[in-house]
Amino acid sequence: MQQDVLIGVGVSPGLGVGPVAWMPPAVAEPDATSTLGAETADDAVARVRAAAAAVAADLEARAARLEAPRGTEAAPAGMAPAAAEAATVLRTTAMMATDPTLLAGAETLVRAGTGPARAVWQAAGTVIDQLSALGGYLGERTRDVADVRDRVVAHLTGHPAPGVPDLDHPFVLVAGDLAPADTATLDPTRVTAIVTLQGGPTSHTAILARSLGIPAVVAAPGAAALTASDVVLVDGGAGTVTRDPSPEQVERARALAGRARTFDGEGRTADGVRVPLLANVGGPEDAVAAASAGAEGIGLFRTEFCFLDRTEAPSVDEQTTAYRAVLAAFPGRKVVVRTLDAGADKPLPFLTAADEPNPALGVRGLRTSGRDPQVLDDQLAAIARAATAEQADVWVMAPMVATVEETEDFVARCAAHGLTHAGVMVEVPAAALRSGPILARAAFASIGTNDLTQYAMAADRLLGELAPLSTAWQPAVLDLVAATCRGGAQQARPVGVCGEAAADPALAVVLVGLGVTSLSMTPRALADVAAVLASVTRRECEELAALALAAETAQGARDAVRGRLPVLVELGL
Ligand code: PEP
Ligand code: MG
Repeated sequence: MQQDVLIGVGVSPGLGVGPVAWMPPAVAEPDATSTLGAETADDAVARVRAAAAAVAADLEARAARLEAPRGTEAAPAGMAPAAAEAATVLRTTAMMATDPTLLAGAETLVRAGTGPARAVWQAAGTVIDQLSALGGYLGERTRDVADVRDRVVAHLTGHPAPGVPDLDHPFVLVAGDLAPADTATLDPTRVTAIVTLQGGPTSHTAILARSLGIPAVVAAPGAAALTASDVVLVDGGAGTVTRDPSPEQVERARALAGRARTFDGEGRTADGVRVPLLANVGGPEDAVAAASAGAEGIGLFRTEFCFLDRTEAPSVDEQTTAYRAVLAAFPGRKVVVRTLDAGADKPLPFLTAADEPNPALGVRGLRTSGRDPQVLDDQLAAIARAATAEQADVWVMAPMVATVEETEDFVARCAAHGLTHAGVMVEVPAAALRSGPILARAAFASIGTNDLTQYAMAADRLLGELAPLSTAWQPAVLDLVAATCRGGAQQARPVGVCGEAAADPALAVVLVGLGVTSLSMTPRALADVAAVLASVTRRECEELAALALAAETAQGARDAVRGRLPVLVELGL
């Protein structure tokens, strides 16, 4: 029998199998003119109350499930901190569902003739406005009220509850697209793989999936035909989704999923040239995982991942606590803290304008400090405090730097906080081409190949349709990396790579051959990159880099390099 195989772009390697569960669509705002119709006000009020009670009961039940030991495994001595935190959030949200202010507001509107779903929507709107006006901790609760609102409205209108489905068995999550905030909360023990119809290979959703170790395929429009009755096998390396896999395929997937590779904690070439292999992290939990995976330090701490759901800027104290927890995982080791990279697909409501026509080309990354200097100053103060309190060797860098003036300004601001090791990310072609004068001011550069590729190729990193353009194998991108390294060599400054290119073992050795001095990646890629690096001398890295630069197409560069690395076949990479 011919198997039905859907093709997409593999963005997080590994095999995952399971029944399909669709991410429900966002709950739409009920029509502002909706009325009670034939329903009496008493009946409508009773329905609102019942819907709110059902939502509260559902959230309570989910909290209880999180607190209970899983399946038949031995009872855990204590709940994992993340599960305990999630259970507390669910209980708080459950209480909000039956909040008397919200219900009284909805009842008043219903008695004035408004349809029940609309009444809940509007009453929640009033509560949200009040909480936002109060600000602080209460201001942060507006998202919870919006969540409750969506759940009650979905219940009243007969739609599925919003958010990642809460099923009692592992499943493959299928979605049109996923926001980074949804992806960050996925539980890898429940979600065996992710498939999206849209999405690009270097989108933050893809990056998060990789860091969680969840196999993922994006840009698979054929997945639109999948239903909850399908069982699929997702190959996140090959970019395929196989419907109705055979028992042998399922068996192989489970066996490979259990195979572990390890990293001994020192990146080097076959002839002993040291290339520190560092980790990309988004917060304290990642940092602990990175340390146990043997990372030599942190090459990219994406601080914005700590605050993705915030409506208000986090305080200096709160930031200090979060940063200390990351630094504490790497005493005596290098930790590169990146200042907030808000904007484009990571909007932070307290920094990002909602109405920019081209957010990726807008006030993003370091550019936000022009409009909102206090946020950057507070963050630098928090990083400085955390650095003083912990033992890590703290480096600081700014995202989306394009010019010498921006570099000077950032380095000066860092110095004012006693942060003397200040660098820049090279993500904009202008910075790559002018890295010499930029690195005359900055202590180091770290190339963000995801954005550098997006801006060099003028290809939105979120668009699956443009995936063939969105790869750092593009010779033009490699030229920009080479230019950055030349600037670094001129000024005797280190140039690392912290974009996804560093996690592709074949590309990693090319980067080293181009002059890159350290590589930072998701901890899961460390062992593979280390193994391939250890199979080649520095001279061979340079030869491979020359081969890649001489190619005229991305595919040509990739094929030429891979053809010279037999170790890739041995390792199944
Ligand atoms: C990059 O652009 O390559 C990078 C590392 O930053 P981010 O992916 O967070 O934009
Ligand atoms: Mg970037």
